[in-house]
Amino acid sequence: MLEYDIVIVGGGGAGLYAALWAAENTILKVAVMTKVYPTRSHTGAAEGGINAVLTHSVGDSPEAHAYDTVKGSDFLADQDAVDIMCKMGAAVIYDIAHRGVPFSRRPDGRIAQRPFGGASYPRTCYAADKTGFYILQTLYEQCLKNNVTFLNEWFLLSIIHNGERVEGLTAWDIRNGGVHLIKTKAVILATGGHGRVYWNRTSNALGNTGDGTAAALRAGLPLKDMEFIQFHPTGLAKTGILVTEGARGEGGFLRNKDGERFMKRYAPERMELAPRDIVSRAIQTEIDEGRGCGPNGDYVYLDLTHLGEEKINERLPQTREHAILYEGVDPVREPIPVAPTAHYSMGGIDTDKMGRTEIKGLYAAGECACISVHGANRLGGNSLLDILVFGRLTALEAVKYADDAPETNPSLAKQKDDEKRILELMENDGKESLADLRRELGNVMIKHFGVFREESSMRQGIEKLHEIRERAKHVKVHDTSKKFNTDLISVLEFLNLVDLSLPIAIAAIERKESRGAHARKDYPNRDDKNFLKHSIVRLKEDGDYELSWKPVTITKFPPEERKY
Ligand SMILES: Cc1cc2nc3c(=O)[nH]c(=O)nc-3n(C[C@H](O)[C@H](O)[C@H](O)COP(=O)(O)OP(=O)(O)OC[C@H]3O[C@@H](n4cnc5c(N)ncnc54)[C@H](O)[C@@H]3O)c2cc1C
Repeated sequence: MLEYDIVIVGGGGAGLYAALWAAENTILKVAVMTKVYPTRSHTGAAEGGINAVLTHSVGDSPEAHAYDTVKGSDFLADQDAVDIMCKMGAAVIYDIAHRGVPFSRRPDGRIAQRPFGGASYPRTCYAADKTGFYILQTLYEQCLKNNVTFLNEWFLLSIIHNGERVEGLTAWDIRNGGVHLIKTKAVILATGGHGRVYWNRTSNALGNTGDGTAAALRAGLPLKDMEFIQFHPTGLAKTGILVTEGARGEGGFLRNKDGERFMKRYAPERMELAPRDIVSRAIQTEIDEGRGCGPNGDYVYLDLTHLGEEKINERLPQTREHAILYEGVDPVREPIPVAPTAHYSMGGIDTDKMGRTEIKGLYAAGECACISVHGANRLGGNSLLDILVFGRLTALEAVKYADDAPETNPSLAKQKDDEKRILELMENDGKESLADLRRELGNVMIKHFGVFREESSMRQGIEKLHEIRERAKHVKVHDTSKKFNTDLISVLEFLNLVDLSLPIAIAAIERKESRGAHARKDYPNRDDKNFLKHSIVRLKEDGDYELSWKPVTITKFPPEERKY
């Protein structure tokens, strides 16, 4: 049995920043567990940038940032948490800049900021279009400098608690095989989002399968606001790979098959820089109403040609590279075919404004958590800020807690259960194929719980999801070897996606209104009287899901109509 004081599960931006702040503020034993090597975490794919009001952001203020965030969230964000995030922005940016993140600079040497969707000032700090990559590399290097212990290529299976406090974890050692029990006083879940529920059309890394969120659900914890999935307006048409919002921030236009800049009909003031939910719906509507481009009319064009080669190379080098590589078009000369792609999980593990869950010593931070600072729709550039602010705050909370928490005594039962479960996966009849069923899950989610939703289609979707849940019992792990058993990991990840698909669906059908990313054709308006509240889904012992609601924290900004 391994033994630590604090285990951080996840080596992305949230996990590494938590580890760094924990390591610098305690002599307790801290470890980071991660299924992929830390620098391969999805944070490294973040392109556009990170929002913060800096000392030289003339005219801007943390209050304006908070207002934009709350308005962007369609008033579903908890405003006490938003306040914390926006006020800490500058501190976090200067901290990571001093630790080595090479932010792009203005001619006077100060950190440059670009305009982003839904923001009333240019407040998105960036390092070309590889912001997350630089942040992740810098944090990893700083963790190594501070002698953080890493359990690289370990896969979280289960959370162990006694109903009151967390006691430990179980995990599979990917390199050597075997289920291990890990005793610890505190756990920070920082396992990232679950965009891969939409398997075939997502900007997310293959590993964004919501493992920590699903483990929390199975451990009896509530998930919040799962119906809210952000569709990014500009995924490459063929693959769903992301084209950063920075491309529109730098002046890119969206055009339909008639060459029209159609955003003028949807958001006349903000145009291409309206929030993501609005731009995604606009693109989907153009496609649905026959104004899409290409032989099947299933995408629109993102036109950067007027920006010129020099600006594209300087500000959007990765965008150019991806467009050439994956779409076969060079944005210097031709428009890029784009369509909405599942991008971000606003919902996740229910926490309070400091990342605490209802189990003592168990915290969640980053995309797996729903704190909630993004409500019904996240603004671009706010996630990198969220993961750092709350990574750091949960680390300090965990240190405080673990400092005088009692010794834990995790039972061996979970380890035995997990061993049994894995054995069963290797021994079932194998009637179903993982690849087929996973694709089917993605198709059901896209078709019935995509950009637009409505009752009858969602009902069909829920039935199909129940069928997939049953059929998933017949997906077999064919590789029975121990070392680097990627077959086993893929099946475990798929089962986590299945566990998370129904909470999304159940909350979506019961939220009979349109708010942020949740757009219902049958209830096109926001309904504050009945639905200004968070959805909560729990998994009951009999395997059924249970839905309830929880109030939203409103402090400064009363709900108003959301116009751009
Ligand atoms: C293509 C793309 C571009 C983006 N661009 C931006 C942007 O410009 N600005 C912005 O603000 N946001 C952006 N986002 C969103 C943002 O990058 C993510 O929300 C954020 O990086 C998530 O960070 P995280 O630390 O929570 O999780 P991740 O970086 O996803 O890390 C998750 C970690 O958890 C570990 N893990 C997961 N499951 C297990 C398990 N079972 N056992 C052990 N370890 C596990 C993984 O190994 C990984 O280390 C973008 C997202 C994408 C997909």
